[in-house]
Amino acid sequence: MNRVQTVFERIFYKHPKTIKEIIFSFSLIIFLISSFFTFAFYNIDNNEIFIISLIIIDILIFFSFILLGKNALIVFLLYILFNIFAALANINSIFKNTPWILNLIFLNVYVVHFLRQIDNIDTEEKLFEIKNLELEKQQHEAIDKINKLKKIIDGAKDTVNKYKILNKIAQKLTSAIDFKTINQILHSAIFEITGNKPIKYTLAFYDDEIKRYRLIMEEENIKNTENIEMMPTSIKIYDNLDAFDNWVIKQKYSLYVKDIEKDFRFKDLKKSKLPFKFILVIPLLGNKKSADKKNENEIIGLLRFYSDIPEIIDNEEARLFNYLANLCANAIQNTLLFQETQKLAIKDGLTGLYLRRYFIERLDEEIKRAKESQKDLSFLLIDIDHFKQCNDTYGHIFGDKVLKVLGEFLKTDLREVDIIGRYGGEEFAAILLNTNLNGARATAERLRREFSKLVISVNENEAVKLTLSIGGVYYRPEYKLLELINLADKALYYSKQNGRNRVTFWEDIS
Ligand code: GH3
Ligand code: MG
Ligand code: MG
Repeated sequence: MNRVQTVFERIFYKHPKTIKEIIFSFSLIIFLISSFFTFAFYNIDNNEIFIISLIIIDILIFFSFILLGKNALIVFLLYILFNIFAALANINSIFKNTPWILNLIFLNVYVVHFLRQIDNIDTEEKLFEIKNLELEKQQHEAIDKINKLKKIIDGAKDTVNKYKILNKIAQKLTSAIDFKTINQILHSAIFEITGNKPIKYTLAFYDDEIKRYRLIMEEENIKNTENIEMMPTSIKIYDNLDAFDNWVIKQKYSLYVKDIEKDFRFKDLKKSKLPFKFILVIPLLGNKKSADKKNENEIIGLLRFYSDIPEIIDNEEARLFNYLANLCANAIQNTLLFQETQKLAIKDGLTGLYLRRYFIERLDEEIKRAKESQKDLSFLLIDIDHFKQCNDTYGHIFGDKVLKVLGEFLKTDLREVDIIGRYGGEEFAAILLNTNLNGARATAERLRREFSKLVISVNENEAVKLTLSIGGVYYRPEYKLLELINLADKALYYSKQNGRNRVTFWEDIS
């Protein structure tokens, strides 16, 4: 319908402006008038069929251009032919046919114009179509661009969210000073970053004392954060470092293997035997406490992610994990430092044993626990015989050496679970957990015997042997803390009174 309208508007100039347009509009009017006169006054009888045919063809031509566009050229040619015939047929009475000839002339002029208009419209339409196509293309491109931007924005939103999470985690981790807290924060962080992806992780730190790695966490799967309080924190030794861990320790650089099968770096590995297809090992870098390696970026731990699904995380997530590892490194370092200062506050500088105040707190805790769980507990007080004399003869510095030797002796001779303290100047104490009277007696006796054999050298020429007096007591639930200590003290006094180098238990003298 639009097309018909356009054609009409172009043919019947409503407001002709150029001379051309005026001529064409004028032609049209003449055509219509002459047609009218032809049909109204011409002697129809003469050439009835011919005239009627002309009328039909006039109408046909008129509408054909509108409907057929350029195809109407054929119709137009037919019309010309027909006109020639008409002219030949009326050649004898040429003057009588003036309206006819006028009609023909104007009609032809009109038709030419008509055709040109149609042609114009066609070209314009084509141009329009081309433009349309171009616009459509541009539109598609624009939509594509918008979609891409949307994706980028969505991705950015996602990243921003993840970094927001990390920010929160960073805040939490900076105040963490124990491994359990670090582990809980790390666990929820990984869960928030990866959702339910089947990823496992391991967090280990380097224990400078034993020169080995210890596991803070070996987590099976990142499942959820519901039972985070219940999560076990095992500080066991991490001995089975694999090729990937060792690579990272050597290079001090993250190892990111998206798909083990496709990675060229570990050719010698039997990849099919590995329990994972994806692995990301990140070194935790920091300053080790040892004074000789100041300010050096050393490996203080490892954060390890692995999964049996290759390419389980994308680069963005890997980057976040690296960031997370940095945070963990700081937190672990803080924790180690905190533990160190705590040790300083509760441990004796000379012997490395617990100081009296902390030792008594521990004793209080342990007797409560023994009472609740009905477990055995024994308590020993250990005093060096004639130590004053030793000090006086060989000097205080040697006296200190003796105290140190005794401290080491107690640490190695007693079990890991036993709690040893420096109770006073040259008086030591030990809490023997899960130990009944007989066990405690045997232990005390062994200590006395073995220490008396120990030769402590004063200088190149001199060496001394010293003895211990020990007082012990087996804990009974009715004993209060100070009572327990007092009973052991009484037993010790008995040992001193009865010749020294002797073990006495309160139970023997009461
Ligand atoms: P005994 O216990 O057998 O009755 O005799 P003793 O000589 O050991 O007696 P006492 O407990 O009276 O003496 C303790 C001495 O230990 C006194 C003190 O000079 C010494 N002493 C206490 N603390 C230290 C220390 O940190 N370093 C050194 N070198 N000596 C200490
Ligand atoms: Mg003494
Ligand atoms: Mg003493």
